[in-house]
Amino acid sequence: MSIKDHIKFYRQEVEPFGARLIAVSKTHPAPAILEAYEAGQRLFGENKVQELMDKQPTLPADIEWHLIGHLQTNKVKYIAPVVSLIHAVDSEKVLLEIEKQGARAGRVIPCLLQIFIAQEETKFGLHESEALSLITNPVVQSLQFVRIEGLMGMASLTENQTQIRQEFRSLRRLFDVVAKLPLPGHIRMKELSMGMTSDYRVALEEGSTLIRVGTAIFGQRR
Ligand SMILES: *Cc1c(COP(=O)(O)O)cnc(C)c1O
Repeated sequence: MSIKDHIKFYRQEVEPFGARLIAVSKTHPAPAILEAYEAGQRLFGENKVQELMDKQPTLPADIEWHLIGHLQTNKVKYIAPVVSLIHAVDSEKVLLEIEKQGARAGRVIPCLLQIFIAQEETKFGLHESEALSLITNPVVQSLQFVRIEGLMGMASLTENQTQIRQEFRSLRRLFDVVAKLPLPGHIRMKELSMGMTSDYRVALEEGSTLIRVGTAIFGQRR
């Protein structure tokens, strides 16, 4: 099947759930992205700032670029003018830098908080208690150039579907808890980014609104 066919297939998979498909184009060249674009795909995900910045000017202007990988404070300035959604914010420090660079670029930057839900050891993501204290932090509650649109998470790399489901469900539960808090207008629980090639079906069943599929659309990465 071609990239075009894959885009059509995955959109038919996610749209009945009210979710949207992000085509994860990292490591794949512009012609592959254009083929997906021609099938109507507009949301693309990259995990590296440099790669996003290299590709963005060479491709159609109505593409929405999502940064799905970890973001270092010193790189926020590059993406601030062009990024549509930053998926993996996991500290107050990064939020404050996004605030600063949003002000400089004259735009409010949409973000998600990355939550740690997997069993594996990883440096990235907030624990539930850390996420709650960040969201209720007066400094974060008074940001003007940041919009926190929801949460993002990655399940464990395992074949165990029950475990994956439990991890997604715990993220969904946190999402629902936060949504019930009294929050300022720039913090809202609208997007829940979870699910990739190997686990997108479970993620949809557990309430994902943004599915990040790379390999199944573009093939193996080198
Ligand atoms: C690469 C990546 C994906 C896509 O993974 P596939 O298994 O190729 O679908 C999704 N989310 C993040 C954060 C990634 O880095």
